[in-house]
Amino acid sequence: MNKLPSSCKFILQFLKYNEILSAQELHERMRLSSSKAPSLSTTYRSLEILLKEKQVQSVEFRDGEKRFELVKIGEHHHHLICETCGTIVHMEECSIIHWKNRISEEHGFLLKQHVMEMFGLCNLCTTVTDQ
Ligand SMILES: [Zn+2]
Ligand SMILES: [Zn+2]
Ligand SMILES: [Zn+2]
Repeated sequence: MNKLPSSCKFILQFLKYNEILSAQELHERMRLSSSKAPSLSTTYRSLEILLKEKQVQSVEFRDGEKRFELVKIGEHHHHLICETCGTIVHMEECSIIHWKNRISEEHGFLLKQHVMEMFGLCNLCTTVTDQ
């Protein structure tokens, strides 16, 4: 991936697996630790490039803000999100791949992307509610 702009390479150093960040949060982190941090608008643009290159995936919670997460190139996964404490469970892999392929065939529909995050109560929060 040497064709990536240097801003993308820079950003990749600040992303960690299993961590979901908005462009602003990422920009803030880079700005605090380096004077060479790309501007916020460059950060947005670079994240879109990384998205296209499938090095990050986008994650949308219900506040409508787009967030980003580092993934192994070409992979993506989904999340369980606790509505009470905000805990996020990262699934191992895309769990709907077979269903997706079936409905794509059934409807002659070329699926390009999908968004699926599941909201509910985590293990700990269910225990509290049960009492
Ligand atoms: Zn919880
Ligand atoms: Zn994740
Ligand atoms: Zn998926």
